[in-house]
Amino acid sequence: MGAESGVAGREQERVLDVIIVGGGPAGLTAGIYLARARMNALLVEKQSPGGAPAMTERIENYPGFPEGISGFELVDRMRRQAEGFGLRINPFNPLLRMEEDGEVKVLETEEGELRAYAVILATGMRPAKLGVPGEEEFHGRGVSYCATCDGAFFKDGVVAVVGGGNSAVEEALFLTRFARKVIIVHRRDRLRAGKILQERALAHPKMDFAWKKVVKEIRGKDRVEGLLLSDVEGGGEEELAVDGVFLYVGNLPNTEEVRGVVELDGRGFILTDTSLQTNVRGVFAAGDVRAGAVWQVAAAVGDGVRAALNAQFHVENLMGTAYI
Ligand code: NAP
Repeated sequence: MGAESGVAGREQERVLDVIIVGGGPAGLTAGIYLARARMNALLVEKQSPGGAPAMTERIENYPGFPEGISGFELVDRMRRQAEGFGLRINPFNPLLRMEEDGEVKVLETEEGELRAYAVILATGMRPAKLGVPGEEEFHGRGVSYCATCDGAFFKDGVVAVVGGGNSAVEEALFLTRFARKVIIVHRRDRLRAGKILQERALAHPKMDFAWKKVVKEIRGKDRVEGLLLSDVEGGGEEELAVDGVFLYVGNLPNTEEVRGVVELDGRGFILTDTSLQTNVRGVFAAGDVRAGAVWQVAAAVGDGVRAALNAQFHVENLMGTAYI
């Protein structure tokens, strides 16, 4: 792609110090550090900044907020802090492909090519699909991956939540504010979620559990009306009438655009060394997309700091301006 008008067009006129890909907690934190260090940094994000936490109703384990904080507010504060130091954020400009041209990394985006001496990949994860009949057909008509976005549509209804991890249980508890009944459908006989969430869910009067069950099909006419459940121990099939179903069955890394450029693990997460550098010099990974991440906002913030400082050091070394 050639030089173009618009924000990316202006960014194309020079080689930037660092491009951060992804505007969740890891990317925004890297942005705060790089902008404050007066590096010429740009953040590109295919949606509005915030990442997955922006869709989390309440975050209780991020240090410094003893009463908890809304996920949206936390990441919005990070964005304002980064922009306050002068970080340029270019939303709705997805990375399409990344290449190397010697020490310069070339990022092809929808608005044209961007060049930088260092790149921080902080592209996060997306919800995994269950892969059953009805899932695609009823997406947006009773099938959802985001309770914070869609929960209010199910006021006084009955909803199922599939999965037993932290996401499933946290979002199931949130859904009790709207639905008259929330049924967790889980393939085992106990939850994977942390103890405090388990205690709350098991004690909640609106919560019910379908243990050792998997969803075989999501059924309905114009919208979801029920689930076909199968017993994992061979106890047969049954239909469960619901108005909606929220799926929290794990996550997939957003690494399609860098596949074949940086080394990935067997599940598609980005492999890094202890400085968070990938196998490509000058390309770093931070946050949930990094192999070995613990998928916590506080940890993603720490990754953002490490990646930013190491990217800064890499660029200053190239320019001969590093202190050490
Ligand atoms: P997760 O921990 O991977 O849990 C996925 C759940 O889906 C598991 O219970 C799994 O069952 C179930 N599952 C997977 N494939 C399935 C299938 N095909 N059919 C039926 N069930 C299936 O994912 P997550 O809950 O999204 O959490 C991801 C990470 O983010 C975790 O590390 C989590 O701790 C973190 N997180 C933390 C917080 C917090 O700290 N408050 C909040 C949200 C997420 P099994 O249990 O049998 O494997």
